Amino acid sequence: MAVPVPNRPRIAYFSMEIALEEGIPTYSGGLGVLAGDMMRSAADLGVPIVAVTLASRAGYFRQELLHGRQVERPEHWDPATRAQRLDCKVAVRVGNHDVWIGAWQYEVESHSDQFAAVPVILLDTDLPENRDEDRTLTHYLYGGDPTYRLRQEIVLGVGGVRMLNALGVHVQKYHLNEGHSALLTLELLRARGAADAHGESLQEAVAAVRRRCVFTTHTPVEAGHDQYPYGLAEQWLDGLVHPRVLHTLGGPDRLNLTRLALSLCGWVNGVAQRHAEVSRVLFPGYEVHAITNGVHAMRWTSAPMQALFDRYIPSWAHEPELLVRALRILDGDIAAAHVQAKQELLQFVTGMAGASQLDPNRFTIGFARRMTDYKRPGLLFSNLDRLRAIARRYPFQVVVAGKAHPHDEPGKRHIASLHAWAQELAGAVPVVFLPDYRLEVARRVVAGVDLWLNTPQPPLEASGTSGMKAAMNGVPSLSVLDGWWLEGCDEGATGWAIGDDGDFDANRHAESLYDKLEHTILPTFYEGGPAWSFIMKSTIARNGSYFNSHRMLRRYVSEAYWN
Ligand SMILES: *Cc1c(COP(=O)(O)O)cnc(C)c1O
Repeated sequence: MAVPVPNRPRIAYFSMEIALEEGIPTYSGGLGVLAGDMMRSAADLGVPIVAVTLASRAGYFRQELLHGRQVERPEHWDPATRAQRLDCKVAVRVGNHDVWIGAWQYEVESHSDQFAAVPVILLDTDLPENRDEDRTLTHYLYGGDPTYRLRQEIVLGVGGVRMLNALGVHVQKYHLNEGHSALLTLELLRARGAADAHGESLQEAVAAVRRRCVFTTHTPVEAGHDQYPYGLAEQWLDGLVHPRVLHTLGGPDRLNLTRLALSLCGWVNGVAQRHAEVSRVLFPGYEVHAITNGVHAMRWTSAPMQALFDRYIPSWAHEPELLVRALRILDGDIAAAHVQAKQELLQFVTGMAGASQLDPNRFTIGFARRMTDYKRPGLLFSNLDRLRAIARRYPFQVVVAGKAHPHDEPGKRHIASLHAWAQELAGAVPVVFLPDYRLEVARRVVAGVDLWLNTPQPPLEASGTSGMKAAMNGVPSLSVLDGWWLEGCDEGATGWAIGDDGDFDANRHAESLYDKLEHTILPTFYEGGPAWSFIMKSTIARNGSYFNSHRMLRRYVSEAYWN
């Protein structure tokens, strides 16, 4: 395996998490999955990128459920099993001493063999030359306390830039996927001799760094923006840049990594149109562009649906735009491919708690996402009597999955509530919670259900991507109008809206959800005519053809990287 080709200028894509493949736990959720999809598209399209992330040797966590309570287990993996150790080490100062950083190279292959793979550099401080407390710095993704997170971010940002230099990579632009890697901008300033600059020379150095950096913000939720007291930041950054410079660039009272990224990145975007609008209000004075997320078509399409596309739409995987032709698929063929994906999902869950209640002929609703307040996992269950009444006319079942961050107590309570509701509804509406939501679980659920449900509290869903994965498989969404769904919803053709745009009322959302299920969605499904097949096909044609990561990456290339 070769080290990254030194002479080819590359985009350096920095992300705290990247979902590479099943069995490599270097991600927690949507942010990492998106990064992984983007690298796959880069490999398919021959875009010269090198990704930088942490080795996360103990992963995020493996979720077990004990009587409805989430139990977290470490998920250890050995980079040596899937990546190549690079013969290169760099040191960064973290607090009052140096930490050595090693690197592994993982290769994201293209499905088409046409282009070179995309190298992913996994930074690893688990080296014998480090103190014990530093050896574990790249073990736990989003683990530990704020100090641990800050030290990790020094390793990722400052260490990552130094590692690419040491490897001889010629970096054209740095792309910061979320603020976690923002400290890399300080290393770029320092390398220009501007660590202690004043006035005009500081402005010039900032302008030079801004020309080389692109920043994607991913959430309007406060907890998504890391912030540290300046005292703590200065202690751990130990003279990387002068405190005066840090205060000028990092926000008024605390070091806010999103502020820092906004100060030092010349091109900034949100991940859907609405999210860009919301971000402009959150961060007045900054130009925020919109590049709506997309998912990797090949990665997220079930095997039966892939076979169908191969037959009707050859080269769809290389050119997902071609999925606009999905309307020419015969009704019987699309129905058969979906039935097969549904059966594969049911086989996959065999043996899991409650799975024996599931019936392949029953309408199946999927809901899988991070279990946290703003995703409102309880909205579907806000009126159990109404659910029972609907199910008496039109039977349906629900498949649920999702992890709560170990420190998110309300999120964990949502999991416990779902468990309790599932028990209350037993016999009327089967509800099954699949443990340990991860790539493999997601791939099967988005393809095997009949309807994808999403109930976030607007305007907090920046984009959402799981509904796009469902769309690739012909599965329509029923979702609140927020994030990508404002762009993807075509009522009755790609799915249905819950409530109206601008209505934030939870009771009205619940009413709308029940009304659409009872009066529109379930009758159409059970009617058995061509109407449901049309919805499946137009979901693929309209949303699969657009909300894919090939289109997303091309827009980053033409608007952000070439800018
Ligand atoms: C796609 C995905 C997510 C993100 O889904 P959202 O709709 O953005 O909430 C999270 N976890 C896994 C495992 C996924 O595959």
